[in-house]
Amino acid sequence: MKCRICGQKAVIKLRQHNLALCEEHFDEFFLKRVKKAIKEYRLFGQSDKLLIAVSGGKDSLSLWDALVRLGYHVDGLHIDLGIGEYSIRSRKITEEFAMEHKFRLIIVEAEDFLEGYTVPKASQRLRRSPCSLCGLLKRYVMNRVGVEKGYDVLVTGHNLDDESATLLGNLLTWQEEYLRRQYPVLESTHENLLRKVKPLIYLTEREVAAYAVLRSIKYVEEECPLSRGATSLEYKSALNQLEVHHPGTKHRFLHTFLQRRPFGSAKSLQLLSCSECGYPTTSKVCSMCRTKVRLKESSHEIRTS
Ligand code: SF4
Ligand code: ZN
Ligand code: ZN
Repeated sequence: MKCRICGQKAVIKLRQHNLALCEEHFDEFFLKRVKKAIKEYRLFGQSDKLLIAVSGGKDSLSLWDALVRLGYHVDGLHIDLGIGEYSIRSRKITEEFAMEHKFRLIIVEAEDFLEGYTVPKASQRLRRSPCSLCGLLKRYVMNRVGVEKGYDVLVTGHNLDDESATLLGNLLTWQEEYLRRQYPVLESTHENLLRKVKPLIYLTEREVAAYAVLRSIKYVEEECPLSRGATSLEYKSALNQLEVHHPGTKHRFLHTFLQRRPFGSAKSLQLLSCSECGYPTTSKVCSMCRTKVRLKESSHEIRTS
């Protein structure tokens, strides 16, 4: 297998593009796809202060590496969720990556926002699914830390596989509001809300993993132990099966949706400021502050029972 551009030995075959590339030309291809997303959707400019959410997985670390190589100013934010060995390993790998590249990394612990509980413990206390609680925590913390520290944009490493699986899930359940909000850029509509962007929408999970390997980026390979049975993994696997016989399915599915936006764009909700913390909410008190109150009450119940 030879590189289509230079004829040297190819290291990867990209069936959906009918293309084989050597190491150097795959690297060029990867950076071009990131640039394409930034330019097409006007995600951010060179002078913006970017904060990237880094989990320790291949997507966020590869994207951080690529954005810095493209000349952007990007700092990282890692949330230690307290999910046993998985979180210990994720934090260590993220810290080592930041140190090695001399990138600025902010670390936040879930306990500081969950009344001293980790994600699994808080989810047990509240009898709420860990992923729903974890999602709420991550959205809140990423935005709040970014605003407090003066960043303009919050960057996340959602890739083409993640986004097409989310699209499939939202279509299967007709989540029209989510479908309107599914876009590579979400503008800020409140003084305490960061603009959110996804520059990896043109790259598949496999392409990101290949970039990480070629750039010698060490990342956490295992999935979060609490993700077992998650429907999003089933949607990914269904799309991967289609991709085997019809290369390019995921790309067409997602990007035709993004071009057409058949459900329209996100309605600009009238966002209020939470009466407790001042961060955006659609009700008087935000979900994070309400969750904290419930956690406090549950600790009190335990002490008094
Ligand atoms: Fe959080 Fe793990 Fe669920 Fe992902 S799978 S949302 S990291 S609890
Ligand atoms: Zn080549
Ligand atoms: Zn609040």
